Amino acid sequence: MAEMFYDDNADLSVIQGKKVAVIGYGSQGHAHALNLRDSGVDVRVGLAEGSKSKEKAENEGLKVLSVAEAVAEADVVVILTPDQVQRTVYSNDIKPNLKPGTTLLFGHGFNIRFGYITPESDADVVMVAPKGPGHLVRREYVDGRGVPVIVAVEQDASGNAWDLAASYAKAIGGLRAGGIKTTFTEETETDLFGEQAVLCGGASQLVMYGFETLTEAGYQPEVAYFECLHELKLIVDLMVEGGIAKQRWSVSDTAEFGDYVSGPRVIDERVKENMKGVLADIQSGAFAKRFIEDQDAGAPEFKRLREKGASHPIEKTGKELRGLMSWLKDADTDSDYVEGS
Ligand code: NDP
Ligand code: MG
Ligand code: MG
Repeated sequence: MAEMFYDDNADLSVIQGKKVAVIGYGSQGHAHALNLRDSGVDVRVGLAEGSKSKEKAENEGLKVLSVAEAVAEADVVVILTPDQVQRTVYSNDIKPNLKPGTTLLFGHGFNIRFGYITPESDADVVMVAPKGPGHLVRREYVDGRGVPVIVAVEQDASGNAWDLAASYAKAIGGLRAGGIKTTFTEETETDLFGEQAVLCGGASQLVMYGFETLTEAGYQPEVAYFECLHELKLIVDLMVEGGIAKQRWSVSDTAEFGDYVSGPRVIDERVKENMKGVLADIQSGAFAKRFIEDQDAGAPEFKRLREKGASHPIEKTGKELRGLMSWLKDADTDSDYVEGS
């Protein structure tokens, strides 16, 4: 059983006694900075010159400095810029300004695991990785809850790295939901695998193939959209509440039988072999290298793939339908509008 820990297992005063610099104010950065501040932590945000996020952070009353200035006054530097720029930000603006013994804290292990950043040996290197998008990390905190976190210590120069990481996890609300102890290697490899094979890559491709199969067979795209994309959320909600078993309990016997006979026909053993190939490329660093080299070259492959994805017919159908749905919702009290649409 994994080692789990909660609010009672961490001491908030550890992080409250430190000066914390959050570098980056995007999805995770804004959530960490605001949750830390609301937990009574002395926090400043470090951003590049001309940053688009600066005004947003200042409007929240946060102190915004250059990355160099923020790092220079910090005991804990939280690196929350996009993964592909972290090594450049680290070598140009973070490393030259670090006080001896400053803790480096990451939200994902990519740059450490694949060797793009090699911290000084006197630094504590820790990770607090929320298992959810940044906007939920903030929303859950405000609502008195939290997004679960996984926590790791890569380098413990001070002997206090774990206590600090746990305290930080508590301050961003993560230990209200629970923390699990992990390593940088486990977090990085499982995170990349999950998003590639199941959550983002696998689910998107499954939905697109389902939509294509129905529309190519002559069914209406709107009906195909509802069946293959919209309803997915309802199914996933049941899975989260009670596992795959609850989903199967809730659907009709017809759907449950179809699940058993056709699931393994659609997603057969070859898919598992493909997943093993994806995992091997993650473990070997081949995926990381492909991503970083493309980013360094101005992201030609990334941009081409993004454009291809956006032009898939399911996006056009979805946009029209979602527009209609929100309009229907707004017009809830006057159903005549439905007739006239
Ligand atoms: P974002 O893409 O949302 O971060 C954008 C922020 O980084 C902006 O404030 C941006 O400034 C700033 N930034 C970009 N380039 C630079 C630079 N060269 N120097 C200084 N600041 C810069 O990142 P995420 O929040 O998605 O990811 C941050 C980390 O958290 C990553 O390690 C990621 O893997 C991890 N993570 C992310 C999750 C998520 O929910 N997105 C979930 C769990 C972990 P500007 O506004 O000026 O562009
Ligand atoms: Mg990820
Ligand atoms: Mg059905």
